[in-house]
Amino acid sequence: MTAMTEVLPETVVPILDKGFLALDAALASDLAVVNGARVSFNQESEEMTERDAGLVRFLMRERHGSPFEHGYFRFLVKAPLFVVREHHRHRAGHSYNEWSGRYSKMDAEFYVPDNVRTQVGKPGAYRFEAVDDHVRDEARREIEENAQHAFEAYERMLEQGVAKEVARAVLPLSTYTKYYWSCNPRSLMHFCGLRNHESAQFEIQQYAAAAESFLERLMPVTHAAFIANGRTAP
Ligand SMILES: Cc1cc2nc3c(=O)[nH]c(=O)nc-3n(C[C@H](O)[C@H](O)[C@H](O)COP(=O)(O)OP(=O)(O)OC[C@H]3O[C@@H](n4cnc5c(N)ncnc54)[C@H](O)[C@@H]3O)c2cc1C
Repeated sequence: MTAMTEVLPETVVPILDKGFLALDAALASDLAVVNGARVSFNQESEEMTERDAGLVRFLMRERHGSPFEHGYFRFLVKAPLFVVREHHRHRAGHSYNEWSGRYSKMDAEFYVPDNVRTQVGKPGAYRFEAVDDHVRDEARREIEENAQHAFEAYERMLEQGVAKEVARAVLPLSTYTKYYWSCNPRSLMHFCGLRNHESAQFEIQQYAAAAESFLERLMPVTHAAFIANGRTAP
Protein backbone atom coordinates (compact mmCIF):
# COMPACT_ATOMS: atom_id res chain seq x y z
CA MET A 1 0.00 0.00 0.00
CA THR A 2 1.39 3.41 -0.92
CA ALA A 3 1.40 6.08 1.73
CA MET A 4 0.76 9.63 0.56
CA THR A 5 3.50 11.75 2.03
CA GLU A 6 3.42 15.49 1.76
CA VAL A 7 6.00 17.54 3.58
CA LEU A 8 5.15 21.21 3.48
CA PRO A 9 7.31 24.22 4.04
CA GLU A 10 6.47 25.77 7.40
CA THR A 11 3.32 27.84 7.08
CA VAL A 12 2.58 30.40 9.72
CA VAL A 13 -0.77 31.99 10.54
CA PRO A 14 -0.41 35.07 12.80
CA ILE A 15 -3.03 35.02 15.58
CA LEU A 16 -4.06 37.63 18.17
CA ASP A 17 -1.50 40.36 18.88
CA LYS A 18 1.66 38.24 19.16
CA GLY A 19 0.66 34.61 18.66
CA PHE A 20 0.74 32.22 15.74
CA LEU A 21 -0.05 28.71 14.58
CA ALA A 22 2.47 27.17 12.20
CA LEU A 23 2.15 23.89 10.35
CA ASP A 24 5.55 22.34 11.03
CA ALA A 25 4.95 19.01 9.26
CA ALA A 26 2.12 16.93 7.89
CA LEU A 27 1.40 13.47 6.59
CA ALA A 28 -2.23 13.88 5.65
CA SER A 29 -4.33 13.06 2.60
CA ASP A 30 -7.82 12.01 1.59
CA LEU A 31 -6.27 8.99 -0.12
CA ALA A 32 -4.95 7.68 3.21
CA VAL A 33 -8.53 7.71 4.54
CA VAL A 34 -9.76 5.83 1.47
CA ASN A 35 -7.02 3.22 1.67
CA GLY A 36 -7.49 2.83 5.41
CA ALA A 37 -11.02 1.73 4.58
CA ARG A 38 -10.31 -0.20 1.34
CA VAL A 39 -7.79 -2.50 3.04
CA SER A 40 -10.82 -4.25 4.55
CA PHE A 41 -11.38 -5.66 1.04
CA ASN A 42 -7.66 -5.99 0.24
CA GLN A 43 -8.05 -3.12 -2.23
CA GLU A 44 -6.14 0.09 -2.77
CA SER A 45 -6.66 3.34 -4.69
CA GLU A 46 -3.73 5.06 -6.40
CA GLU A 47 -5.46 8.41 -6.76
CA MET A 48 -8.72 9.96 -5.63
CA THR A 49 -11.76 9.30 -7.81
CA GLU A 50 -15.37 10.40 -7.36
CA ARG A 51 -16.08 6.89 -6.02
CA ASP A 52 -13.36 7.43 -3.40
CA ALA A 53 -14.85 10.81 -2.46
CA GLY A 54 -18.20 9.07 -2.00
CA LEU A 55 -16.50 6.56 0.30
CA VAL A 56 -15.06 9.40 2.44
CA ARG A 57 -18.53 10.94 2.72
CA PHE A 58 -20.01 7.54 3.66
CA LEU A 59 -17.36 6.94 6.34
CA MET A 60 -17.98 10.38 7.81
CA ARG A 61 -21.75 10.04 7.78
CA GLU A 62 -21.79 6.54 9.24
CA ARG A 63 -19.14 7.43 11.83
CA HIS A 64 -16.57 4.89 10.70
CA GLY A 65 -13.91 6.98 12.34
CA SER A 66 -10.71 4.92 12.38
CA PRO A 67 -9.73 5.47 8.68
CA PHE A 68 -9.48 9.17 9.57
CA GLU A 69 -6.68 8.43 12.03
CA HIS A 70 -4.02 7.62 9.39
CA GLY A 71 -2.68 11.10 9.16
CA TYR A 72 -0.57 13.45 11.14
CA PHE A 73 -0.35 17.20 11.62
CA ARG A 74 2.42 18.79 13.69
CA PHE A 75 1.90 22.41 14.63
CA LEU A 76 4.04 24.90 16.52
CA VAL A 77 1.76 27.20 18.49
CA LYS A 78 2.37 30.44 20.35
CA ALA A 79 -0.62 31.30 22.53
CA PRO A 80 -1.56 32.94 25.85
CA LEU A 81 -1.67 30.58 28.83
CA PHE A 82 -5.45 30.74 29.16
CA VAL A 83 -5.83 29.52 25.57
CA VAL A 84 -3.32 26.73 26.20
CA ARG A 85 -5.28 25.64 29.25
CA GLU A 86 -8.39 25.17 27.11
CA HIS A 87 -6.47 23.57 24.26
CA HIS A 88 -4.72 20.97 26.41
CA ARG A 89 -8.05 19.62 27.64
CA HIS A 90 -8.23 17.81 24.30
CA ARG A 91 -6.70 14.42 25.08
CA ALA A 92 -7.67 11.75 22.59
CA GLY A 93 -5.29 11.69 19.62
CA HIS A 94 -3.41 14.84 20.67
CA SER A 95 0.20 15.20 21.83
CA TYR A 96 1.77 18.29 23.34
CA ASN A 97 5.22 19.46 24.42
CA GLU A 98 5.43 22.92 25.96
CA TRP A 99 8.10 25.47 26.87
CA SER A 100 8.86 24.96 30.58
CA GLY A 101 8.84 27.94 32.90
CA ARG A 102 10.80 25.77 35.34
CA TYR A 103 13.82 25.49 33.08
CA SER A 104 13.97 28.78 31.23
CA LYS A 105 12.85 32.30 31.93
CA MET A 106 9.53 33.31 30.39
CA ASP A 107 9.65 36.20 27.91
CA ALA A 108 7.83 39.35 28.96
CA GLU A 109 5.24 38.88 26.23
CA PHE A 110 1.58 38.99 27.06
CA TYR A 111 -1.74 39.30 25.26
CA VAL A 112 -3.63 42.58 25.28
CA PRO A 113 -7.02 41.93 23.64
CA ASP A 114 -8.38 44.14 20.90
CA ASN A 115 -11.69 42.38 21.13
CA VAL A 116 -12.87 43.63 24.53
CA ARG A 117 -16.45 42.47 24.89
CA THR A 118 -19.23 42.20 27.45
CA GLN A 119 -21.12 39.01 28.23
CA VAL A 120 -24.91 39.01 27.95
CA GLY A 121 -27.37 36.19 28.72
CA LYS A 122 -27.29 32.95 30.68
CA PRO A 123 -24.51 30.34 31.10
CA GLY A 124 -24.55 28.08 28.06
CA ALA A 125 -26.21 30.76 25.93
CA TYR A 126 -23.98 33.79 26.26
CA ARG A 127 -23.79 36.49 23.65
CA PHE A 128 -20.81 38.77 23.47
CA GLU A 129 -21.15 42.40 22.51
CA ALA A 130 -18.53 45.07 21.98
CA VAL A 131 -18.05 47.53 24.84
CA ASP A 132 -17.82 51.23 24.11
CA ASP A 133 -14.45 52.71 23.23
CA HIS A 134 -13.81 54.22 26.66
CA VAL A 135 -14.40 50.91 28.49
CA ARG A 136 -12.29 49.10 25.89
CA ASP A 137 -9.36 51.48 26.30
CA GLU A 138 -9.56 51.28 30.10
CA ALA A 139 -9.71 47.47 30.06
CA ARG A 140 -6.72 47.28 27.72
CA ARG A 141 -4.80 49.67 29.98
CA GLU A 142 -5.64 47.59 33.10
CA ILE A 143 -4.57 44.36 31.40
CA GLU A 144 -1.34 45.86 30.07
CA GLU A 145 -0.32 47.61 33.31
CA ASN A 146 -1.09 44.58 35.43
CA ALA A 147 0.98 42.34 33.19
CA GLN A 148 3.86 44.80 33.18
CA HIS A 149 3.86 44.97 37.00
CA ALA A 150 3.72 41.20 37.18
CA PHE A 151 6.73 40.82 34.88
CA GLU A 152 8.64 43.43 36.92
CA ALA A 153 7.96 41.43 40.09
CA TYR A 154 9.05 38.24 38.26
CA GLU A 155 12.36 39.90 37.27
CA ARG A 156 12.95 41.15 40.83
CA MET A 157 12.44 37.71 42.29
CA LEU A 158 14.75 36.09 39.73
CA GLU A 159 17.43 38.71 40.51
CA GLN A 160 17.11 37.79 44.20
CA GLY A 161 17.74 34.15 43.38
CA VAL A 162 14.19 32.83 43.58
CA ALA A 163 13.77 29.73 41.40
CA LYS A 164 11.98 30.27 38.09
CA GLU A 165 9.39 27.66 39.07
CA VAL A 166 8.46 29.77 42.10
CA ALA A 167 8.76 33.27 40.62
CA ARG A 168 6.47 32.37 37.73
CA ALA A 169 3.57 32.18 40.18
CA VAL A 170 3.15 35.92 39.69
CA LEU A 171 2.75 35.79 35.90
CA PRO A 172 -0.66 36.47 34.35
CA LEU A 173 -2.80 34.10 32.27
CA SER A 174 -2.15 36.42 29.32
CA THR A 175 1.55 35.34 29.22
CA TYR A 176 2.50 33.83 25.88
CA THR A 177 4.00 30.36 25.77
CA LYS A 178 4.96 28.01 22.93
CA TYR A 179 4.30 24.34 22.34
CA TYR A 180 4.29 21.62 19.74
CA TRP A 181 0.90 20.10 19.07
CA SER A 182 0.45 16.93 17.04
CA CYS A 183 -2.85 15.34 16.17
CA ASN A 184 -4.51 13.17 13.54
CA PRO A 185 -7.33 14.22 11.18
CA ARG A 186 -10.02 12.66 13.35
CA SER A 187 -8.84 14.32 16.57
CA LEU A 188 -8.32 17.60 14.70
CA MET A 189 -11.92 17.52 13.46
CA HIS A 190 -13.20 16.85 16.97
CA PHE A 191 -11.16 19.81 18.25
CA CYS A 192 -12.37 22.08 15.43
CA GLY A 193 -15.99 21.02 15.92
CA LEU A 194 -15.82 22.22 19.51
CA ARG A 195 -13.40 25.13 19.33
CA ASN A 196 -13.95 26.62 15.88
CA HIS A 197 -17.49 27.23 17.02
CA GLU A 198 -19.28 30.33 18.18
CA SER A 199 -19.79 28.90 21.69
CA ALA A 200 -16.01 28.63 22.22
CA GLN A 201 -14.00 31.56 23.52
CA PHE A 202 -13.04 34.03 20.77
CA GLU A 203 -9.30 33.57 21.30
CA ILE A 204 -9.21 29.76 20.98
CA GLN A 205 -11.57 30.02 18.00
CA GLN A 206 -8.81 31.89 16.13
CA TYR A 207 -6.35 29.01 16.71
CA ALA A 208 -8.93 26.38 15.79
CA ALA A 209 -9.86 28.23 12.58
CA ALA A 210 -6.18 28.39 11.60
CA ALA A 211 -5.71 24.66 12.27
CA GLU A 212 -8.87 23.87 10.30
CA SER A 213 -7.54 25.82 7.32
CA PHE A 214 -4.71 23.27 7.07
CA LEU A 215 -7.16 20.36 7.23
CA GLU A 216 -9.12 21.98 4.40
CA ARG A 217 -5.96 22.50 2.36
CA LEU A 218 -4.48 19.01 2.77
CA MET A 219 -7.67 16.96 2.98
CA PRO A 220 -10.32 18.87 1.00
CA VAL A 221 -12.69 15.91 0.54
CA THR A 222 -12.53 15.01 4.23
CA HIS A 223 -13.02 18.63 5.22
CA ALA A 224 -16.05 19.03 2.94
CA ALA A 225 -17.56 15.84 4.39
CA PHE A 226 -16.92 17.15 7.92
CA ILE A 227 -18.83 20.34 7.07
CA ALA A 228 -21.64 18.36 5.40
CA ASN A 229 -21.82 16.20 8.54
CA GLY A 230 -22.64 19.25 10.67
CA ARG A 231 -19.01 19.71 11.74
CA THR A 232 -19.20 16.55 13.86
CA ALA A 233 -16.09 14.34 13.79
CA PRO A 234 -16.75 10.68 12.95
C1 LIG B 1 -17.60 25.81 24.76
C2 LIG B 1 -16.86 24.96 25.77
C3 LIG B 1 -17.02 25.22 27.11
C4 LIG B 1 -16.33 24.45 28.06
N1 LIG B 1 -16.48 24.72 29.39
C5 LIG B 1 -15.82 23.97 30.30
C6 LIG B 1 -15.96 24.23 31.71
O1 LIG B 1 -16.66 25.13 32.11
N2 LIG B 1 -15.24 23.47 32.58
C7 LIG B 1 -14.46 22.44 32.15
O2 LIG B 1 -13.85 21.76 32.97
N3 LIG B 1 -14.32 22.16 30.84
C8 LIG B 1 -14.97 22.90 29.92
N4 LIG B 1 -14.81 22.62 28.58
C9 LIG B 1 -13.90 21.54 28.19
C10 LIG B 1 -14.70 20.27 27.80
O3 LIG B 1 -15.40 19.75 28.91
C11 LIG B 1 -13.73 19.19 27.26
O4 LIG B 1 -12.81 18.85 28.28
C12 LIG B 1 -12.96 19.64 26.07
O5 LIG B 1 -13.79 20.30 25.15
C13 LIG B 1 -12.32 18.43 25.39
O6 LIG B 1 -13.35 17.68 24.79
P1 LIG B 1 -13.32 16.10 24.72
O7 LIG B 1 -13.19 15.50 26.08
O8 LIG B 1 -14.49 15.67 23.89
O9 LIG B 1 -11.99 15.88 23.86
P2 LIG B 1 -10.83 14.72 24.01
O10 LIG B 1 -10.25 14.81 25.35
O11 LIG B 1 -9.96 14.94 22.85
O12 LIG B 1 -11.67 13.41 23.88
C14 LIG B 1 -12.27 13.05 22.61
C15 LIG B 1 -13.33 12.02 22.85
O13 LIG B 1 -12.72 10.83 23.35
C16 LIG B 1 -13.58 10.23 24.33
N5 LIG B 1 -12.90 10.26 25.62
C17 LIG B 1 -11.75 10.91 25.93
N6 LIG B 1 -11.40 10.67 27.21
C18 LIG B 1 -12.37 9.90 27.72
C19 LIG B 1 -12.60 9.36 29.00
N7 LIG B 1 -11.78 9.56 30.02
N8 LIG B 1 -13.69 8.61 29.19
C20 LIG B 1 -14.55 8.35 28.18
N9 LIG B 1 -14.42 8.88 26.93
C21 LIG B 1 -13.33 9.62 26.72
C22 LIG B 1 -14.86 11.06 24.35
O14 LIG B 1 -15.78 10.54 23.41
C23 LIG B 1 -14.38 12.41 23.88
O15 LIG B 1 -15.40 13.24 23.32
C24 LIG B 1 -15.48 23.38 27.63
C25 LIG B 1 -15.34 23.13 26.27
C26 LIG B 1 -16.02 23.90 25.34
C27 LIG B 1 -15.82 23.61 23.86
